[in-house]
Amino acid sequence: MPGDCVFCKIADGEVSAEIVYEDDDILAFKDISPVAPVHLLIIPRKHIPTLLDLNESDAELVGRLHLVAADLARAFNIDHSGFRVVFNCGPDAGQEVYHLHLHLLGGKPMTALIAEES
Ligand code: 5GP
Ligand code: ZN
Repeated sequence: MPGDCVFCKIADGEVSAEIVYEDDDILAFKDISPVAPVHLLIIPRKHIPTLLDLNESDAELVGRLHLVAADLARAFNIDHSGFRVVFNCGPDAGQEVYHLHLHLLGGKPMTALIAEES
């Protein structure tokens, strides 16, 4: 793993986070600067920088990230009110951490395309 990747460090337990789900391949934790009442990050344990770095062998993993997001939406009671899942990719999307992560956002109405404007 790249030594400076904060999400690898969270996955390895070197940096603490409020973990809400984990299995052998996937980890989910609360975002440190939430922009919605529910703001979780769902990551693969393995270091993949962005969506552009995925390949065919990651297809099941990427699918499972979404299934975990759906389970967490139910667990955090935002399944009926609605929620958003987002991969930011690259500078114009505002990607800050270059370790693939799925944002799960909910708990308030989001009218704008991106969460921080809602
Ligand atoms: P991005 O902008 O890359 O899509 O999102 C990165 C997210 O990671 C941001 O929402 C930011 O608040 C969150 N984040 C950055 N560093 C940490 C950290 O050390 N711990 C946690 N829990 N979240 C972090
Ligand atoms: Zn990483």
